[in-house]
Amino acid sequence: MAQQKKRLPYNVDGPCFVDSTCIDCSSCDWIAPDIFGAQDGTHYVKKNPETVQELERFQMSLLSCPTNSIGDQSKRPIRKALDSLPHLVEEDVYFCGLTSHRSFGAQSYFIKHPDGNWLIDSPKMTPYLIERFKELGGLKYIFISHQDNVADAFHYAEIFKSSVIMHLNDAGAGLKVDICIKKDVAIEMGEFTIIPTPGHTQGSLCLLYKGKFLFTGDHLYFENGLNVFSEYCWFDFEEQILSVEKLKKYTEVEWILPGHGGKHKIERGVFPHAIDQMIATIKSTYK
Ligand code: SF4
Repeated sequence: MAQQKKRLPYNVDGPCFVDSTCIDCSSCDWIAPDIFGAQDGTHYVKKNPETVQELERFQMSLLSCPTNSIGDQSKRPIRKALDSLPHLVEEDVYFCGLTSHRSFGAQSYFIKHPDGNWLIDSPKMTPYLIERFKELGGLKYIFISHQDNVADAFHYAEIFKSSVIMHLNDAGAGLKVDICIKKDVAIEMGEFTIIPTPGHTQGSLCLLYKGKFLFTGDHLYFENGLNVFSEYCWFDFEEQILSVEKLKKYTEVEWILPGHGGKHKIERGVFPHAIDQMIATIKSTYK
């Protein structure tokens, strides 16, 4: 629980605050950008929530903070915000919130699918989410985009008898991976396409659903255009760019759903052009 005595000086006056245990993962900012700001390697409350919608977003951020660094002295009921998680993105795609310290606050997603539900990367293990996933029909597949986002995936897999999908190059010793991707070619599973995208890590994967929803792990995100985390590339940056270029053929992508970064919708058909723009910017920056 966040502590008032550790309240950061950057917070505006009012009941809502971030304390000094913040690890600057940005999860709160992606959920409630109007409420949270960032400065000097930390986040803070820049505006206290006023509307019902702002309060719900603030409370979803509070619940999703991996280090419990967000506080609200007014102690308003929070059950409604909890019940809104997993939260609908569009159609049958949800984001889970409740991020884990073990994945540095990475976002995870849930797809309610008639042939069995999917979890994409892992939220923290909580009794609440276990119950919610049960109510929603369980978890048939757990897709892990790369090794940094494992968090509690294997605990969820044990509970729901899920098949874990991961690339061999990130799977590491001792992990029980049921569908181990070994090659660098895309694999179709019904409406899902598993796309190897080495670069950020050697075994990074993206998942494309219905040709429209692209789950990118830490491979690609959107902020004023498509972007890659050049300073957080653990394997090979040139290979990461080649992997981004490979995604151009998926012309119908509308949603960029990263582990780190906000979810973002683009107009159908502009995705290949956005990749070209990003690569041109990178080439001019690094030439
Ligand atoms: S979610 Fe929590 S740890 Fe992450 S930036 Fe916000 S306050 Fe800090």
